[in-house]
Amino acid sequence: MVMKSGKRRFYAALLAAGLVLSAGAGGAAEEAAGTGVAEGMAAETDTAGNPSDNAAGAVTDADDGVAESAADGAASDDTLNQVPHVLVPYQTENFDLWDGNPTKAFSMMAAEYHQGLTPANYDSYRQALYNLDGKFSRMTLAVGHIDGERDGSASLYIYKDGELAQTLNLTSDMMTQKLELDTTGVKQLRLDQEGGDAAYGYADVTGYGGHNFVEEMSQVVSVFSDGVYTYTCKDCGYSYGETIPEQSECVPYLTPYQTTNMYSLEDTEDTQDCFYVMGKAYYKGTIPDNYDSRREALYNLGQKYNSVTFTVGHCDNERKGSAVLRVFGDGNLMKELELTKDMLNQTVTINTVGVTQLKISYEGGDSSYAIFDMSYESAETWEHNFTREVLLEATVGQTGISTYTCVNCGACYTEIIPAVDE
Ligand SMILES: [Zn+2]
Ligand SMILES: [Zn+2]
Repeated sequence: MVMKSGKRRFYAALLAAGLVLSAGAGGAAEEAAGTGVAEGMAAETDTAGNPSDNAAGAVTDADDGVAESAADGAASDDTLNQVPHVLVPYQTENFDLWDGNPTKAFSMMAAEYHQGLTPANYDSYRQALYNLDGKFSRMTLAVGHIDGERDGSASLYIYKDGELAQTLNLTSDMMTQKLELDTTGVKQLRLDQEGGDAAYGYADVTGYGGHNFVEEMSQVVSVFSDGVYTYTCKDCGYSYGETIPEQSECVPYLTPYQTTNMYSLEDTEDTQDCFYVMGKAYYKGTIPDNYDSRREALYNLGQKYNSVTFTVGHCDNERKGSAVLRVFGDGNLMKELELTKDMLNQTVTINTVGVTQLKISYEGGDSSYAIFDMSYESAETWEHNFTREVLLEATVGQTGISTYTCVNCGACYTEIIPAVDE
């Protein structure tokens, strides 16, 4: 067997999803390549048994989960609200994280806590950011002084989506206080603590009414078949599936023809190559590749795009300086936006009718912001243009696999190579 290492992961994903083995994919491959392929497919299915059934079952279960929760209505929501979910910040500054490990604890008023935040150093300023994504209706946490530690006083500022919601004075003789916050519709919860030589802890940070989803592509999207993302809550197991429509249309991702001090991520196959914004992984976008204070990305629109939309956000836990984003169409300033380390993601739409060159730039020292989720409206149409690559050579009695990938948009499909006759 010969397999290119860079494609192993993709191949594994196909196998796991049952796409390579399933009847649906077989039909697609047959359409593409004729009867020889169908025979190869049958041989593969016979030897491999029923892994495709397993994959299909998982997807169906996920769908059922959604239907049930919707049918149960309000009662289900109330029950859901009572299930505690651990909240972990997507970005912190001068805080240490406690992850719930039962062998490690900090203490406040002689009570031990295993999950939360404590000072990482002697800095007078600390911050923690939580992405609630508008899904958690309630949040609770215990705030107190860490036993026997530095006893300066401090102030805690709690922000909901950038708006100051509550202020609390912290003193070394305070009793541990349980805060209960109404976070209905709140996307970002921010804790800012200011005050010198102080040691306060934030424990049992818990959310209610939402979930901590981990996403997984349980069925790979292709030119001929829908893909499925499965979202599973790592705390309570609640799960649902989301269908990604088949890539029958050719819609290329808008990529810069030139970047300065930035790096454009376009490869969707290597899932290690990604960046994080507000706790979410992104695989396509433009991010800084050095410490320069001036960055730009240039796009050739050729006067064929009516509008371009993108999102800008701060790269989690990366350099925290502020910056100013500027967007130019043919040299004319079209948008200006302030960027800060604790900003919420901002989606920007630029009217680009008649524009040839689009420039997205930002300036500001020691900062790190990402441009992602790029989309557009265009009168231009594209056609798929596939290149073939052999993932697995066919041998005597053993089928092989090849993939076809569109050079314009990255859409792909797989095809079984019939086994070689003796
Ligand atoms: Zn959950
Ligand atoms: Zn294409």
